[in-house]
Amino acid sequence: MRRRVGGLETELGLVCVRADGSRALEPEAAARELFRPVVAMGRSSNVFLRNAARLYLDVGSHPEYATAECDDWWDLVAQDRAGERVLADLVDQANVAFRERGEDARIHLIKNNEDSAGNSFGSHENYLVDRRGEFTRLPQHLLPFLVTRQIITGSGGVVTEEGGAARFVFSRRSDQMWEAVSSATTRTRPIINTRDEPHGDPTRFRRLHVIVGDSTMSEVSTHLRFATTDLVLRLIESGRSLDDLRLQDPITAIRAVSRDLTGQAPVALEDGRTLTALEIQRRFRAQVERVADDADAEVLETWDRALDAVETGDRSWAATHLDWAIKERLLTGAAQRHGLALDSPQIQRLEMAYHDIDRGAGLFFALQRRGQAPSILPEERIEAARTTAPTTTRAHLRGQVVTAAQEAGVDHVVDWTTLRLSRQGAMPVQILDPFETENAAVERLLAEIRAAGA
Ligand code: ATP
Ligand code: MG
Ligand code: MG
Repeated sequence: MRRRVGGLETELGLVCVRADGSRALEPEAAARELFRPVVAMGRSSNVFLRNAARLYLDVGSHPEYATAECDDWWDLVAQDRAGERVLADLVDQANVAFRERGEDARIHLIKNNEDSAGNSFGSHENYLVDRRGEFTRLPQHLLPFLVTRQIITGSGGVVTEEGGAARFVFSRRSDQMWEAVSSATTRTRPIINTRDEPHGDPTRFRRLHVIVGDSTMSEVSTHLRFATTDLVLRLIESGRSLDDLRLQDPITAIRAVSRDLTGQAPVALEDGRTLTALEIQRRFRAQVERVADDADAEVLETWDRALDAVETGDRSWAATHLDWAIKERLLTGAAQRHGLALDSPQIQRLEMAYHDIDRGAGLFFALQRRGQAPSILPEERIEAARTTAPTTTRAHLRGQVVTAAQEAGVDHVVDWTTLRLSRQGAMPVQILDPFETENAAVERLLAEIRAAGA
């Protein structure tokens, strides 16, 4: 697929603390407070927004924002960043409400993948793939890429081995993966989830669900996750014969790769060869050259830079662009300056603060303002993405319907494929092609909504 639809689902950690840092509210109660304005407007804690994204509260009290379908990875980064702002507004409203009621409580939403109690939550990538393409061939080629991708797109973090000292790693999420491929998401947590829910015409499409990614703050990291994976998918789909890099044991490999910041972690292949994480990434990088075109030049260059940073140990570019390297500098620097262990509570707090989505409290945003973290997207593009869906996918249609219905005060029910008014007998409009941006039935629905609101 040259043009591909994708979306990013982000679950967030929620804490509600008093001024002294102790817990003020249980997550469930805090989540209810946070979603009060959402429920008031949409009569549900599961809604679609004007930008065609889905905002909901799942079990376990982790708010989730799932971007609308995008076919441009910078659009996707903008939609994701816009989602942080939508959620940050909810945080503000809840905190104002606490203050007005004289309650000593403050909510923080943390865009990471693990809370202090050790519960993990995800950042799921969705990629549209062709049903006819050999889905069975996909995982074998994609897994070696995904297992080693963390050396460029990881968020970085600290792990403490039993009886050992704390150390900085590419991705803590690597330790939370228990299976390579499976249809379950929570119990065994696979790298690739094969649950077959295409959110589209099942005879034409599949939706590939990648569970392994870290939540990323850096726009460059988020973009690289999607753009490089898209290129590798294109390579596999091209049907060309590929270097067989099947891994002997993906789960052992993913943990080893995470722990070796030199990228030299040896990875055993099924055919008996051993390659390093860097070598595997370089092979994918070289092979995608065969399917890349001019529009991919920037991605390829960034991919090279990211790999060079690991190979040479020269962090000058990476430490201001890629999450793992920005955090490495931040956390190891603070630990050294203050004589602290990497797993000390102070450094843990610093790590949490990096992922705080509040633009005042969040350390990532503070670094961004100081030019020590990338700020690629223009402010207007992020702000526009709060209320405007991507225009090149069916999200455009959904965004128009949600916007019109909200403006007219008309109750409606929407999901990824269906648009419908709530009133009895209303006919649903189905959009089974994620690339569709014009639809006569949607035009009629819009006219009906406007008439009802008039
Ligand atoms: P849940 O997370 O509740 O288990 P789910 O996996 O279906 O369900 P959602 O949270 O509803 O996930 O998010 C779906 C994501 O998939 C969104 O980001 C959306 O943009 C994206 N998406 C929707 N349709 C497609 C498609 N046909 N191909 C690829 N991505 C899609
Ligand atoms: Mg979801
Ligand atoms: Mg999902």
